[in-house]
Amino acid sequence: MKYFILFGPPGAGKGTQATAMVESYKLCHISTGALLRNEIAAGTELGLKAKALIDAGELVPDEVVEGMIESQFNTVKGVEGFLLDGFPRTIAQAEVLDKMLAKKGEAVTSCVSIMIPDAMIMERIKHRATIEGRADDAKEETINNRIKTYHEKTEPLVEYYKKAGKYNEIDGVGTIDEVRTRIFATMDKF
Ligand code: AMP
Repeated sequence: MKYFILFGPPGAGKGTQATAMVESYKLCHISTGALLRNEIAAGTELGLKAKALIDAGELVPDEVVEGMIESQFNTVKGVEGFLLDGFPRTIAQAEVLDKMLAKKGEAVTSCVSIMIPDAMIMERIKHRATIEGRADDAKEETINNRIKTYHEKTEPLVEYYKKAGKYNEIDGVGTIDEVRTRIFATMDKF
């Protein structure tokens, strides 16, 4: 099985590119953000707790998303691998993921990182707000906190995957097709 991590700051285009990636490489797409939004829409207890954090631009607790990932690994069958979109987002999550995979005799295949300059993040998210209507895209304050959270908690993963020799950076500036071509050129190596 292949385990691809789709990495990048908010607004880099992870969700947009994920659709083509899972189709072309027969992967199961696991977006922790989308799973959490489903919980919110279903009005579950977990959803209620997650909503306050998501609306503030904070991360939900590591154990919550780790549990979601593990249950997907254990239930999804008939795919050639997984595309983890929005997970891991902290070093602790990355370590748990490594352990989860090691137990199965597996390992992360590659961290595919879509990078855009900071100045472009706000512009991209504001554009997405007009299309997808996500609550956490609507308020400038929330977006700013998500960017801060990204730099503080998530960006250290760049070094984590570089050290593991698994970091592959893609220039996320360009049209959707251009960025997809770059991503596929990297994924074809694995
Ligand atoms: P996303 O759709 O990936 O932008 O995620 C939306 C929001 O869900 C994030 O801003 C976080 O509040 C929460 N979230 C998604 N994935 C994670 C994760 N791996 N760890 C903690 N919080 C997460």
